[in-house]
Amino acid sequence: MIRNIRDNSYDVIVVGARCAGASTAMLLARRGARVVVVDHDQPGTDTMSTHALMRAGVFQLRKWGLLHAIIGAGTPAVRRTSFIYDGEVLDIDLKDEDGIASLYAPRRTLLDATLANAAAVAGAELRYGTGFVGFVTDDLGRAIGAKVQTPAGVIEELHAPIVIGADGRRSTVARAAGARVMRTAQNTISCLYQYVRGLPNRGYRWHFAPGAAGGVIPTNEGLSCVFVGLPPEAQAELRKAGPLNLQQIASRFVPALADDLAGVQPTGVPVLFSGLPGFFRQSAGPGWALVGDAGYFRDPISAHGITDALRDAEILADAVIAGTVADYPALRDSLSSDFFALTDRLAGLDGTMGEVQNIHRALNRTMKANQRWVAGSSRDLPKAA
Ligand SMILES: Cc1cc2nc3c(=O)[nH]c(=O)nc-3n(C[C@H](O)[C@H](O)[C@H](O)COP(=O)(O)OP(=O)(O)OC[C@H]3O[C@@H](n4cnc5c(N)ncnc54)[C@H](O)[C@@H]3O)c2cc1C
Repeated sequence: MIRNIRDNSYDVIVVGARCAGASTAMLLARRGARVVVVDHDQPGTDTMSTHALMRAGVFQLRKWGLLHAIIGAGTPAVRRTSFIYDGEVLDIDLKDEDGIASLYAPRRTLLDATLANAAAVAGAELRYGTGFVGFVTDDLGRAIGAKVQTPAGVIEELHAPIVIGADGRRSTVARAAGARVMRTAQNTISCLYQYVRGLPNRGYRWHFAPGAAGGVIPTNEGLSCVFVGLPPEAQAELRKAGPLNLQQIASRFVPALADDLAGVQPTGVPVLFSGLPGFFRQSAGPGWALVGDAGYFRDPISAHGITDALRDAEILADAVIAGTVADYPALRDSLSSDFFALTDRLAGLDGTMGEVQNIHRALNRTMKANQRWVAGSSRDLPKAA
């Protein structure tokens, strides 16, 4: 059954209500746009992702007036980042930069819900349990809205001059738009993560060992998110061996991480991301645009997807208001290009520890340039060199 409700008219339709979509919707609604957001998930649910925020991401949350809600919900402050290269430790204590002296890694159940709530408070209409199934098009085939399936299974037509796909790396909006992949990474990691109880908050701990990576990310409710990253073929071998056990895998591939985990109590079941090489997709066309992972996905090894999504939500929202959506992908790509290439090198998991450290130094330079760009203290585009 198809229902065509003519007054289902908006300025913007956003598909996906997590970090990219909810932020974009919030920013547009705060500027007076009539926004509807659809997501086939339910509010406050988890998704496959660890959730370490970098400084530019924390900056955005503070600027949008939402950091206090994240801190108020008991998200622990991260004041140190440690890089552990095959057991050799490099501790970096965080200094105040752009007014941010601590990082945070809120659970997605908290972060996405906080952003979605802020979007609703700003006036956006949120429709959960509702999936985008295709565009409504005009006689020339241009998108003029979205067909969505309601929780009751009814197909409804929503109308708007622009449909924003914030629907993740397997974006249905991208597919419906025929968005081309413009650039692809060579490498990916497989990543197994699990929450554990009983670890002190020692900040972010990023472990590297020959052919493997791992880490500890302190988060809400006294839990730490622990992960091991391996080349996809190694993970496949482990799967053949039987049920995945994070601590055993850590002791086999990242022994210094296994030392970190002595005495912890695992909670819940481990989650496996089997790997997907990064990409940039064509991210704007007539009547549509993509934001977040839908348009730009980088391997999780650099833990930057959420931070980038919060940056790009603002760039896209500004472009929608200014009527310059066609220019948005070029700016996003200039800000992200070097970071993408470095992440790809890191995801190869094939460097010596000295080479990995050099990649981290270059990543740090592009991160800082991005951070200054987001904070408005510099408009120079990031360069790794
Ligand atoms: C294993 C792993 C670890 C990671 N760790 C980190 C990290 O530590 N730090 C970090 O910053 N990033 C990390 N990332 C990256 C981060 O998860 C993503 O960059 C981020 O989730 C992108 O957000 P998004 O809003 O674009 O998409 P998503 O979070 O994927 O949300 C997309 C939403 O769209 C909805 N949707 C999809 N299709 C439809 C449809 N047809 N109709 C309606 N709704 C739809 C989905 O239900 C979903 O709610 C990690 C990723 C992985 C896989």
